[in-house]
Amino acid sequence: MTQETALPRVAIGSLGGTVSMQAAAPGQGVTPKLDCDAMLAALPQLVGLAQFSTATLCLVPSASLDFTGLLEVLAWAKAQVGQGAQAVVLTQGTDTLEEAAYFLDLLWPCDAPMIMTGAMRAASHPGADGPANLLAAVRVALSENSRGRGVLAVINDQIHEAKAVRKTASLAMAAFESPGSGPIGQVVEGCAHYRQVASRRRVLPLPQRTSQRVVLLEACLDADTTLLQALPGLGYDGLVVAGFGAGHVSEPWADTLADVVGHMPVIVATRTGSGSTARATYGFVGGEIDLQAKGMRMAGVLCPRKCRILLWLLLGSSALTELDDWLAH
Ligand code: ASP
Repeated sequence: MTQETALPRVAIGSLGGTVSMQAAAPGQGVTPKLDCDAMLAALPQLVGLAQFSTATLCLVPSASLDFTGLLEVLAWAKAQVGQGAQAVVLTQGTDTLEEAAYFLDLLWPCDAPMIMTGAMRAASHPGADGPANLLAAVRVALSENSRGRGVLAVINDQIHEAKAVRKTASLAMAAFESPGSGPIGQVVEGCAHYRQVASRRRVLPLPQRTSQRVVLLEACLDADTTLLQALPGLGYDGLVVAGFGAGHVSEPWADTLADVVGHMPVIVATRTGSGSTARATYGFVGGEIDLQAKGMRMAGVLCPRKCRILLWLLLGSSALTELDDWLAH
């Protein structure tokens, strides 16, 4: 057996984002340019670590990814594992990495790790972090300890769970955190160190339909109810509210939401960026006790954006009855 064939196989799929971006000419803004092979070519340290199969799945800023495209990425990743890949690494823009990671994690049925990474500095900028993040992602992907943990985000040498990870800074290098829980691991001298053992995972079935629409609205001081009142007539299938504090809205919003919840499921999350919604603390109109009495669900620790993804997938697989259970864990 040659050394080449003895190496584990890792599939790397690239989707675009800053990690792939370059300026066409000095002084111009950066845009997605590098395909997957070009990104790997900038990383000779990968040689000898694994055999790589590469695919440029798309080349877009991550704001332009969508659920249908992510389902195609999932199918590609599953096929790679089916063909013998020990792990899958995905590169994409950091702007929506937390949402894509959670979406894929909810559907990833394999023990093989799926590791997502990106970069804060474009490939053509001094001090580009993409190559270091990609190398760290591959090393985490190859770690036996990463198996059975679903989809992880590896960035800035930290390892984050898909459910918890969040981009908390627009341009800083240390842009990712897992508010409340912290990262589940660290990359130290190229090795993945985890703070806890892998916990039991649940995955959702693939959605049978993708036409459902879930809207996310944020509660703001003195916000009117025009949009809320219109929602039942706009064809949406679900609503997530990023509520104040522990999951609260104003009295006019509470009254209008009481009507909306007769037409579609409504989840109220916290807009604070960290911590859980309450369940049994506040008794005012628009507080969580009132909202639950009116038929709304509280999100717990799940952030508004990830609630929207969960609700979309549950609606798509006709598994809405499982919503409370998913929100409780
Ligand atoms: N600023 C983003 C990034 O870090 C752009 C994107 O998300 O595509 O990749």
